Amino acid sequence: MPVEFRCSDIGADTCKKHFVAATLDELMGQVAEHLRTVHRVKTPTQTLMTYIAKKVNVTSS
Ligand SMILES: [Zn+2]
Repeated sequence: MPVEFRCSDIGADTCKKHFVAATLDELMGQVAEHLRTVHRVKTPTQTLMTYIAKKVNVTSS
């Protein structure tokens, strides 16, 4: 099932980044990379990644 996530889902309202991936693992990889390069989160914690995973939506299309 395709999954999607937006940075605004976790309160980063100024970031318009929208992620879409085929699997949750792929999506989380993209998000982690984005956090490192754009949000300067060098080492996303397990707590943060778990929180993000809860905000991920399964796309209906
Ligand atoms: Zn972002």
